[in-house]
Amino acid sequence: MGKMQEILHAPHEQIEEIQLEGIKKTVIACYENVPFYKKSFDDAGFDPYAVKSLDDLQNAPFVTKQDLRDNYPYGMFATPLSEVKEIHMSSGTTGVATVGGYTQHDLDIWGECFARGIEYANGGADDVVHVCYGYGLFTGGLGAHYGGLYSGATTIPMSAGNTERQIRVLKEMGSTIICCTPSYAMHIADTALEMGIDPARDFHLRAGIHGAEPFSDNFRRDLERKLNYHVLDVYGLTETMGPGVAIECWEQNGLHLAEDHFYAEIIDPNTGEVLPDGEWGELVLTTIDREASPVVRYRTRDITRILPGECACGCTHRRIDRIHGRTDDMLIIRGVNVFPSQIEDVMKTFDQVSSWYQIEVDTDHRSLDMVTLKAEVNPDFAFDSVAAVERLQKEISARLKTALSVGVKVKLVEPKTIARSEGKAKRIVDLRKGIK
Ligand code: ADP
Ligand code: ZN
Repeated sequence: MGKMQEILHAPHEQIEEIQLEGIKKTVIACYENVPFYKKSFDDAGFDPYAVKSLDDLQNAPFVTKQDLRDNYPYGMFATPLSEVKEIHMSSGTTGVATVGGYTQHDLDIWGECFARGIEYANGGADDVVHVCYGYGLFTGGLGAHYGGLYSGATTIPMSAGNTERQIRVLKEMGSTIICCTPSYAMHIADTALEMGIDPARDFHLRAGIHGAEPFSDNFRRDLERKLNYHVLDVYGLTETMGPGVAIECWEQNGLHLAEDHFYAEIIDPNTGEVLPDGEWGELVLTTIDREASPVVRYRTRDITRILPGECACGCTHRRIDRIHGRTDDMLIIRGVNVFPSQIEDVMKTFDQVSSWYQIEVDTDHRSLDMVTLKAEVNPDFAFDSVAAVERLQKEISARLKTALSVGVKVKLVEPKTIARSEGKAKRIVDLRKGIK
């Protein structure tokens, strides 16, 4: 059995030993090398030298995105800059970007973690891995690239953009695995169809490793049908590494955490209390062997749950459910919590609408959230028939009401009116005053 297979199938007790040993070192390294952690541990009365079990970690304080921002640019580094080989920054989707540093060891681990996705797709030296996440400061491009190299595949560093060229390369160079955001994969598929190329027939894809943004099950099915391949969801964030923190296996029933590198907890975002497996809450991550930018109990603001039970694939690393969305993106409509991905899931049950949509949030005269779903119809829909448009708007709205128990106004728009994205799609437009 190869080294990767061995760690993916290790008994869970063995993984927990690796976690405990790593966490002990990590908390001490943070305490001794990062003034922020020294102060925050001292303030919370947390003794990093007294960690004897994984549960002891619950005594450590959380670290937030704001803490990382406050220590921009190098304040959170636990190694001297001379040991840092590479720098990345988050996309800044929700404000000022955060910085991550990587030693050579950190880069090696990153490649290994992303390569697990290629392994789950039964890939290796015979694969051609087409990377069209953006290269640069964004972690998507180089993270997938290092994964491709680690797995021994032929890696094509396309980066995002120039979609027609992506399509030519996918067709002519026989790419078998594509890595990009799910929305960009959809854009590539739609553009190919417009060019008279049928990606289901003319591409050679077996798997897509898609992540960096939430996407619904129905969106996934749509992609799989158009591109005739298998979609694996990959999760990650700059603050802990980049893509590869957790990846779906071929079973598509949750994302296996790379538990020998990341320790996961789920907390109640309001109280900070640790929740049992199976309950939805905010994911909190601690790095186990990250050198340059370790984090202890980082609040990701991403909503998921730990899936109980074992996976049929035999991998022993625990799984998280597909990310519902960020706490920042959660809409509270008339007191009901709603994530954009839930709206998307309902919308995608209608054949007449495409995958392109935007959710506009505004407040009415009573300061209550008002949500409008703007969705593009498919090109074959008779958009000039006012009656047909109104009927469909009403139907979608009614189905949203049944599924989510909230009122969402639906406004259908013509094909290609919503901006396409080569990276993360902009799904929410917030027009509420005082909220960016
Ligand atoms: P930013 O927070 O500025 O977008 P990153 O580029 O580091 O910074 O993106 C990380 C974030 O992207 C995660 O915290 C999460 O909200 C989102 N994300 C990453 N992968 C997924 C995924 N597979 N499903 C849903 N959301 C994801
Ligand atoms: Zn599995």
